[in-house]
Amino acid sequence: MDDTRLDASAAAAERLAIITREIARARARFGPPAEEVTLVAVSKTFAAEAVRPYLVAGQRVFGENRVQEAKEKWPALREAFPDLELHLIGPLQTNKARDAVMLFDVIQSVDREKLARVLSEEMARAGKQLPVFVQVNIGEEEQKAGIAPSEAVAFVKTCRTTYGLDVRGLMCIPPEGQPAGPYFAHLAQLGREAGVKALSMGMSGDFATAIAMGATHVRVGSALFGSRPPQGMDQR
Ligand SMILES: *Cc1c(COP(=O)(O)O)cnc(C)c1O
Repeated sequence: MDDTRLDASAAAAERLAIITREIARARARFGPPAEEVTLVAVSKTFAAEAVRPYLVAGQRVFGENRVQEAKEKWPALREAFPDLELHLIGPLQTNKARDAVMLFDVIQSVDREKLARVLSEEMARAGKQLPVFVQVNIGEEEQKAGIAPSEAVAFVKTCRTTYGLDVRGLMCIPPEGQPAGPYFAHLAQLGREAGVKALSMGMSGDFATAIAMGATHVRVGSALFGSRPPQGMDQR
């Protein structure tokens, strides 16, 4: 590696260490914490060259919100780092389900029956059984993806029994500009009712709160990679 590459991976290692320490601190402070908290490094909008130092520094779990972007970016990175794990955290159109099943290891944004059906067909076709999360529109916001909270428990059951999906947990993005704690607590309650173990909640600004409420997966983008050009949450 040349000097700039060394610098980049040292900087990546330092940012990872900071976030990892904050996660450990939040777990210790709020016990009983989840057995394990997985850091999903959200690399959307950042080019492969910006992501690679984080792989070199040891990070293996990443999140992307767009199928097309993942398609351009990740196959080459995966070739270099075959043990990485890529999560789809953005809304998925059924016509991109085939690509998504090919590119991702975990789909966190299952939020409607048609998508559950198409994903189960595409997984069968590919001979894969990817773990999935059900996305809940926890703030019942018009513009956001996700199943309504009141339908979440029944939908998890449908995904499992009707479509044979391996539902591991629930995912949510709480409304902006409000304290996230009550929304995280609500998701945790729905998770208990649905009988799922994993909870994907918490981003750069609120992952410690999410861990306090039982998050097993935190999705951290800007705190690791720096700020992004504005593109919103890309929620339909
Ligand atoms: C962009 C994004 C994140 C990361 O947000 P940061 O505030 O940059 O940490 C997490 N989850 C989803 C679904 C996202 O789209």
